[in-house]
Amino acid sequence: MKIPLSLSLLLLSVLLISYLKYRYTIEIKARRKAEEIIEYMTTHDTLTGLSNRYHFHNCLESELSNKSINSLAVIFIDLDRFKTINDTMGHGIGDRLLQEVSKRLMKCISAEGKLARIGGDEFLIYIPNLDRMKFPNYAESILGYFSKPFEINEHEIYTTLNIGISFYPSDGKDGETLIKKADSAMYQAKREGNKYQLYHSMQVEQMAEKLDVEMNLRKALEHEELFLCYQPKVNLSSGKITGAEALIRWNHPEKGLISPAEFIPLAEETGLIIPIGEWVIRTACMQSMSWQDAGMPPLVMSVNLSVRQLYEPNIVEVIKGILEETKLQPEYLEIEITESMLMDTEQGLKFLKELKGLGVQISLDDFGTGYSSLHYLKEFPINKLKIDQSFVRNCTFDSNDETIVKAIIAMAHQLKLEVIAEGVELIEHLIFLQRILCNEAQGYLFSKPLSAEEFVHKYENIEQIVINYGIPQELSNQKWMEEAVEVDRRELIDMVRHQQGMIFKFIKEDEKFIHTLCAGELTYQMGLLPEKIIGREPIDFLPISNALEKTKFYQRAWDGEENVLYQGKLNGVHYIASLRPIRKGGKVIEVIGTCIEITKINRNDKILN
Ligand code: C2E
Ligand code: MG
Ligand code: MG
Repeated sequence: MKIPLSLSLLLLSVLLISYLKYRYTIEIKARRKAEEIIEYMTTHDTLTGLSNRYHFHNCLESELSNKSINSLAVIFIDLDRFKTINDTMGHGIGDRLLQEVSKRLMKCISAEGKLARIGGDEFLIYIPNLDRMKFPNYAESILGYFSKPFEINEHEIYTTLNIGISFYPSDGKDGETLIKKADSAMYQAKREGNKYQLYHSMQVEQMAEKLDVEMNLRKALEHEELFLCYQPKVNLSSGKITGAEALIRWNHPEKGLISPAEFIPLAEETGLIIPIGEWVIRTACMQSMSWQDAGMPPLVMSVNLSVRQLYEPNIVEVIKGILEETKLQPEYLEIEITESMLMDTEQGLKFLKELKGLGVQISLDDFGTGYSSLHYLKEFPINKLKIDQSFVRNCTFDSNDETIVKAIIAMAHQLKLEVIAEGVELIEHLIFLQRILCNEAQGYLFSKPLSAEEFVHKYENIEQIVINYGIPQELSNQKWMEEAVEVDRRELIDMVRHQQGMIFKFIKEDEKFIHTLCAGELTYQMGLLPEKIIGREPIDFLPISNALEKTKFYQRAWDGEENVLYQGKLNGVHYIASLRPIRKGGKVIEVIGTCIEITKINRNDKILN
């Protein structure tokens, strides 16, 4: 059929119009979508999906212009130590943490409220109709959401918040002022270690004071206003001073003595800790050498290191240079670091290995308070754990702290680490720590931190304290002997386990040697099963000639021979066994046997022969 030209043209134009309409709708939709995306991106934070500062500010202004509003709280939240987490665990984990924190904060706001992330680790909330009276309950509920750790990539991360609050209308009538005041209240909370802080005008003066202190701290090094005190560390077995911790002080020209707890955080914030930290190491090493030169027994000088110093690329070189310059032998320098500094295990391990390579000692300060992941203790070349004073303070009357202190000591000794307790103030602390075999102690009971002269002056008196007030030396020695036997026993078991050997025990009852223990990989390789051995004598599970031969060796050990050795072969496995009698009151009460495999050695011997 032939379609007339005019109809064809008409059809074509209809089709063209429909197509153009269709394209137009698509383009409009795409443009709208693009506009929505742009709108979203300019008003939201892409990491958490929360409003950004700009959007928050607009919403807050429109809320404040709402005539029905009586009161409103603006809450500024900052995460404690987020920078450390980011620096040490990596940005991936930092980002995940921020997302999880946002989810928890979302739970804290009502339908009329708003939450925004305004950059880094800072969040803003506003809640209409929340006044000063009601605020404490609300703040506690926010803090409650953060009492549990965040679990991110197998890390348990605890994070605390610093919260600053301002109120409409008393602290300001517009959004900008309210945000600014909540921000400065948050800084005050952070500085003073409060959980939350309401804005009040005093803060302005305090901020100015902080700036003033910062400027003075910059000059403190040049003006020689910084100095070190030395607090003795005492061996709990002998009572002798084994070392000293160098602790910094600032003699401010107007304010007098300022404690490190006040100015070290500021020094860290401003980066001044780098020159100050280097000065501390040099001064402490020089002091240690000058005591040695004066004829004092060599002491281990401990120096605290800040996280900021740990990440200085040349820190190990700096320490090495100071050791060379002062001629202090490296084993007499100990670096104290805290657990949280090792959260980035890779960087931590690299640093510690390099430090260890210099021959200096490393101790983990404030142990128990940080991000306690115990597995790294095995990995890191650490010499000593320093139990935090918060556990020591109550260890004689708080059963939880008692258990923690005992557990730290037992675990440390298993890992062949020494333990020092800090904050030892009472004789009760001393006796408790001696009884549970803590190696060393430091605290006001022995001495407060002293000037170098006072340290020398009081040296002999300090060394009398354990002798005069501690448990008698013989008892202390006996406890250490018992511990040494226990360590030997554990090592034996570990060795057998490690070498995939076998350990067994037997007793003699009614003229029969009965096995009371049998464990280890080798048992199975020999075709035996522990349950077929325990409670039985050799004849029950070995071929008769083999069993009779064994019985003779067993008898020799039972008669008291110290180290009965024999070789054997069972189901193709060659082994060497050793028997050791265990005595009580001079009488043998059981025998411990260990077996290790020597099949390969035997084969090689044959080849060589
Ligand atoms: P830290 O390293 O844990 O030092 C122990 C703190 O406990 C010292 O406080 C010490 O005076 C105090 N202390 C010792 N025995 C007792 C006791 O029996 N009871 C009580 N209540 N306290 C006791 P200090 O000297 O105020 O130092 C505080 C913190 O400042 C140190 O804690 C350390 O983290 C830091 N610090 C001190 N000097 C330096 C330094 O040169 N560099 C760095 N980076 N940090 C330092
Ligand atoms: Mg310390
Ligand atoms: Mg400490």
